[in-house]
Amino acid sequence: MITILDKTFVPFIEREKLEERISELASQISADYKDRCPLFIVVLNGAFLFATELIKRTQLQCEITFVKLASYSQTESTGSVRQIIGLEEKITGRDVIIVEDIVDTGLTMNQLVNQITALDPASVEIATLLHKPDALQKPVNMRYMGFEIENRFVVGYGLDYNGLGRNLNALYILS
Ligand code: 5GP
Repeated sequence: MITILDKTFVPFIEREKLEERISELASQISADYKDRCPLFIVVLNGAFLFATELIKRTQLQCEITFVKLASYSQTESTGSVRQIIGLEEKITGRDVIIVEDIVDTGLTMNQLVNQITALDPASVEIATLLHKPDALQKPVNMRYMGFEIENRFVVGYGLDYNGLGRNLNALYILS
């Protein structure tokens, strides 16, 4: 059991299990993109650790870049609209793999895929460590998905609670 600020978390998925699954995803990606040179777009901050473990296990020539998503409130039916910050690479004609920590409602990934698709890539796929199917509100096609989890708050392995807990090398769930 661990405590972060006012909340208590219990062990959820241990490091060995996470890394075993990440190795499987990396093998899948290596096979699917053989003889191609994909561009990994890592969504900061949460995906930094998953991305490191995933990409270093792939046997590919590839490029890696990082984006942040800035949300701003807007009275639109879609909820918060996010803008990509830091995307300087040419996307046209590239095989893009978005690397994300968790797909919850799917709003973030749905919007990001739409924005990247508008830049005319050859292909766009998503690699996410976690997915909460019960929370999904928007369709998101996750070609590479580590674990489907229940609709509860998790921390560790890149994911934070109020900025803390990202460095935990396993996943913990709110008790
Ligand atoms: P979505 O747009 O799919 O609802 O939200 C995705 C983002 O919400 C993730 O990138 C992550 O930052 C945050 N998020 C969703 N569920 C969790 C969770 O259980 N724990 C943490 N730490 N962040 C979460």
